[in-house]
Amino acid sequence: MARGTGNGEIAVIIYLNTRTVPMNIELVAYSQANPALDPADLLEMSDLATIWNGASTYPENVIEYAGRVCYRSTHRMGTAPRFIVNRVKEGHEDIIEHIVATVRVRNSEEPLRWRMLNRHCEVTQEADGSWLVSANTRVWLDFFRRGIGLQAMPFLQAIAPKVYAEFAADIPSGNGAKAPEPAAIPPPPSMPSLDLDTSCLRPREEGPLRVTLLAFTQPGIDDAEAQLHHGSATFFFEGISRACTHQLVRHRLASFSQESQRYVGLDKGEWSAVVPPAFKDNMGAQAKLDEAWEFIQQLYLELRKMGIRKEDARFLLPNATETRIVTSMNFAAWSHFLWLRAVDKAAQWEIRRLGQLVLEMLYTVAPDVFQEHWNVYREKFPAST
Ligand SMILES: Cc1cc2nc3c(=O)[nH]c(=O)nc-3n(C[C@H](O)[C@H](O)[C@H](O)COP(=O)(O)OP(=O)(O)OC[C@H]3O[C@@H](n4cnc5c(N)ncnc54)[C@H](O)[C@@H]3O)c2cc1C
Repeated sequence: MARGTGNGEIAVIIYLNTRTVPMNIELVAYSQANPALDPADLLEMSDLATIWNGASTYPENVIEYAGRVCYRSTHRMGTAPRFIVNRVKEGHEDIIEHIVATVRVRNSEEPLRWRMLNRHCEVTQEADGSWLVSANTRVWLDFFRRGIGLQAMPFLQAIAPKVYAEFAADIPSGNGAKAPEPAAIPPPPSMPSLDLDTSCLRPREEGPLRVTLLAFTQPGIDDAEAQLHHGSATFFFEGISRACTHQLVRHRLASFSQESQRYVGLDKGEWSAVVPPAFKDNMGAQAKLDEAWEFIQQLYLELRKMGIRKEDARFLLPNATETRIVTSMNFAAWSHFLWLRAVDKAAQWEIRRLGQLVLEMLYTVAPDVFQEHWNVYREKFPAST
């Protein structure tokens, strides 16, 4: 407010916005186990049941599992308390991108600044001073290290304690703000279970391809646009070729943890060559692939015996080589992926089928979000649905 003082000067009285209500943060959702996954049922399905050998919460077990997929060490799930801490320390941080937590922030404009500091979070305004913020555990770690969003830390520590192990002690963090005392960490809140047809969420197998929905978050928000950005899902793809994952990893908004050809050798990986359907219908073509694969395996092992490291011997391996990869995206990114890869006839057969199996599960989890994809899928690929 400005007013004349009578001597030509203008005195300016500024009324500062003295908001007295402190910022309030509430946990809205976080990555949940796919309810159709039952460790007893999974015993015969590759190593999926080892997730439950993890010694932490389900979300954190998924993080460890993703890391161990890279090194083919899932048989060691739960045996090394510092596994996640050490991976984070060495920079293998994709593994902490697979778990997402959504919070509601009230009485603050801070989330806008968070979004400016780290573009890998989703921020939606619900009302004046009320925001939904979704971020994976890597983004939350970045925030806490900068000393921001600390009120959310107890929730994140409960969901994935080892990711935030550096804050467990009474250590000032980031800008000097104190992290909450460990005693203040609440148990992981249980999220409302959704009324889902779990028969559609079981792992799907077609030939060597297996698609497993490991976890998802589906915040119960009425606003469809907000749901698109705040829902997310993590899949595990097995029995696919490197040709397929090369296309998959072009999707830049996703997070990936892929079996390594540096740390895992052909003998330990027990990889096969993925065979295109066109080869299967053509005995001559199939024979050529078999011959090449046999020859390459032999040469690979010879190189290894000559002392060549796995990271160099892998230069012989073809696009057909089988691989495994954990992949996470929010629903908006999955939506874009599905338009390009699942319901478009221009997409290559392997990634298209993978995408269609993803769509079948995501349509079950979030029908409102994926209804249009589903309609196009049914129209264009009636034989598959
Ligand atoms: C049928 C088909 C054929 C293809 N052929 C080839 C090929 O011959 N050679 C080849 O190299 N690739 C090819 N691609 C890959 C394609 O070009 C994309 O790299 C891939 O599909 C990833 O999709 P995207 O870039 O739309 O989105 P994503 O990486 O999934 O990102 C999602 C969205 O985020 C935004 N975005 C992300 N990063 C940026 C950025 N840096 N700048 C601006 N916007 C961004 C865009 O809006 C984008 O649509 C092909 C894809 C298809 C489906």
